[in-house]
Amino acid sequence: MKNSLSTAGIFLFLLLLQAPGIRSQQTKLQTFHARMDSCEANLRNQRPPLIGISATQQSGGSTIGGAYVQAVVKAGGAPVIIPVIEDEAALRQILSTLDGLVMTGGEDVNPLWYNEEPVQQLQAVDPVRDTYDLMLIKLASDRNIPILGICRGEQLINVAFGGTLYQDLPSQHPNKPVKHVQQMPKTFGAHTIDIQPQTQLSAILGQSSYAVNSFHHQAVKELAPGFRVAAYSRDSVIEAIEAWPDRPILGVQWHPEGHVAGGDTTMLRIFRFLIDKADIYRSNKELPPSGKNSLSLYPNF
Ligand code: MN
Repeated sequence: MKNSLSTAGIFLFLLLLQAPGIRSQQTKLQTFHARMDSCEANLRNQRPPLIGISATQQSGGSTIGGAYVQAVVKAGGAPVIIPVIEDEAALRQILSTLDGLVMTGGEDVNPLWYNEEPVQQLQAVDPVRDTYDLMLIKLASDRNIPILGICRGEQLINVAFGGTLYQDLPSQHPNKPVKHVQQMPKTFGAHTIDIQPQTQLSAILGQSSYAVNSFHHQAVKELAPGFRVAAYSRDSVIEAIEAWPDRPILGVQWHPEGHVAGGDTTMLRIFRFLIDKADIYRSNKELPPSGKNSLSLYPNF
């Protein structure tokens, strides 16, 4: 009897020792869950558009820079990374869920895609990523999903719609180009761009010129049909393109997400433009299919 009492005593003692720890842990978790539950009621009607972000391949994985993700979130979108795959059925399925697309920066584009042989100055190309990126652009534009192309993303949009690139600006551009590869961090502007009046970009930024960052040795050469130039650098290099008339496809040669990471609110407007267009796209996508009461082109049928 005495033995079992002391066993019970030890057990009680151990329980008392552990209880405060357990209790405080549960409290923290419960508070966290309660906060999420109370937020859910407020957030239920807030549905940020789903924005796919193209990835790059590094040591077998699909990765993207955090600045792209943060800029999409800051502009009011819900970002998802699209892994680098060449399976068209899988990419179609992923694209069917998206409301907007960001094509990110990266390697050189294989010039065979625009019927040119590679020059000596061509840098590393990734044939798998080229195919993946071109598939994304075609699948998205077929559905009229809004696209924002950044750096390589802008160049690939131009190639996808039938344009060409300078494989190497310093050796191929007819003018003496300004320095388009900066050593400063991406938050700092390196050279000036002049934004063309009466363009979508001009309406977005509300500026006629801006100092942007620059990390490219390739650039748009012949503009794709159905596009217009939205900005030039002072050496006449094309720095921004947009689909015209009135398609939600915008490409910029600089990295707006780099400026946004440094607190630049003007460059954030580029991402807000994408999110606004994605919101409109989703609203149209979710419209009910036309029913019996809709006007028919063939009233006798
Ligand atoms: Mn540049």
